[in-house]
Amino acid sequence: MGLQAALHLIYPPQCISCDALVTTDFGLCGHCWRETPFISGLVCDLCGTPLPGLDPGHPVHCDDCLTVARPWSQGRAAVLYADNGRKLVLALKHGDRIDLVRPMAAWLLRAARPLQQPGMIVAPVPLHWMRLLRRRYNQSALLSGALAAAAGLDHCPDLLVRRRGTPSQEGRDREARFANMSDAISPHPKRGARATGRHVLLVDDVMTSGATLSAAAEACVAAGATGVSILALARVAKNA
Ligand SMILES: [Zn+2]
Ligand SMILES: [Zn+2]
Repeated sequence: MGLQAALHLIYPPQCISCDALVTTDFGLCGHCWRETPFISGLVCDLCGTPLPGLDPGHPVHCDDCLTVARPWSQGRAAVLYADNGRKLVLALKHGDRIDLVRPMAAWLLRAARPLQQPGMIVAPVPLHWMRLLRRRYNQSALLSGALAAAAGLDHCPDLLVRRRGTPSQEGRDREARFANMSDAISPHPKRGARATGRHVLLVDDVMTSGATLSAAAEACVAAGATGVSILALARVAKNA
């Protein structure tokens, strides 16, 4: 009997969401899988939000991305920020469920397939150090690190830094969110140079208006990146 089989006798694999017994480690049970809104089918090429209709064979954009200039070239998201997607993101962010990083990295890897290009460098959206102290980890950096390892890409967890603490984005409308974030993120004084001449894949846990990702993407360009793509674990969709 292998070690894993022996361990499974003592610790049978459980669903990462509801603790039901499942057959493989780091998986969802059938019920929770159906309750988790994984994004598939036609999506906005800039933010990954699902769109109605069939793939027309060329990139399409959602109303938001037609209205707001996005300082990146392509974007995707793994799940909708709704139902079990929301529950799992919150468990990672506030519930110390670091064990979720591994299955989530697999979801990110699948979503990132259309974005991947050789030589790109992966970086997370940074947390301000005050918030980092309180939370002890940057969930986006855990996700970006696991994704980079799975994809065989370089990872730079501190490519970007928060220049100042920003009040919570919650309860702000779109314009206020962009104003709140402008100039809040800049390249790391030393590590920022790693983006020079390269395409950056920026990773965040949740994308709402895109204001934080915009500030981060602009900082990558300021660091000399040739291009930026963005990847969110969860996308807040208007009708979700
Ligand atoms: Zn379950
Ligand atoms: Zn979009």
